[in-house]
Order: sequence, then structure tokens, then C-alpha cells
Amino acid sequence: MKGSCLCGQIQYEVQALASAIQHCSCRSCRKAHAAAFNTAAAVKPEHFKWLSGEHLLKSFESSPGKHRYFCGNCGTHLLKKTDGRETFTLRVATLDDDPGQVPALQIWASHAVPWLGHGPAVVAYEEWEPGHE
Ligand SMILES: [Zn+2]
Ligand SMILES: [Zn+2]
Repeated sequence: MKGSCLCGQIQYEVQALASAIQHCSCRSCRKAHAAAFNTAAAVKPEHFKWLSGEHLLKSFESSPGKHRYFCGNCGTHLLKKTDGRETFTLRVATLDDDPGQVPALQIWASHAVPWLGHGPAVVAYEEWEPGHE
């Protein structure tokens, strides 16, 4: 599977996910990703490689020993590394290919925003909503 950042300068390849896919609703993920939750899965270092743009990576230590890696050009978060932990944590939404599995759990539900709505109560359009300008 391949993945990339928004500007496309950073590309990576991952051979397999090493955990279930999970939604993380923690406050740090919400802010880092500017989203109600972050969808993530573990990957083994030997199954992950940067294909291009690695020199553009920047990182931010959001809590002690926890380093969030993102594209220094477009800001897309791609990977998290925690000191002393063998696996990386991939930002699954940056995959350009279907990982072939769906999320199995949500973590940090205690931090979940009260306003998140999805499902049949939220009207869905294939692209923009009618009348969008
Ligand atoms: Zn980028
Ligand atoms: Zn989180």
C-alpha cells in the first residue's frame, strides 16, 4: 500500500498494518489533525519505508517521548513514533490505497467531542452540496 501527504512530495509504502485500525479521540490527536478524531494503526518499521520527500519531514513532541511527524510543506501528519516502542503509528487516512480492513475500536472516548455527528442523520452528497458556490 502506498500513501502520501496533501502536497504529494512525501510518499511512503507500507507492506502491512500491525494492528487493528482505531479511531483516537484524544485531545492531542484532535488538535494535531484538526479533526474530531484521528484514524491510526500500528506498523512495523521493517514494513514501512519513505519513497520520497523524507527530507521535508518535521516532528513535534506532543507529549514526552511522543513524536508526531508531518510534512513541513503542507502540514499533513503521517506517522507517530514513541520512544522505546518498537512499532510506529501510521495515520491511516493518508493511505492512497484501501487497507482492506475497517476500524475495530475507538480509544480515548473520554475526550470525544460532544458535537460529532455522522451516519444517516447527516445528509451525504457525492461532492459539494446543492447550491455550493
Ligand atoms: Zn506535503
Ligand atoms: Zn490520540
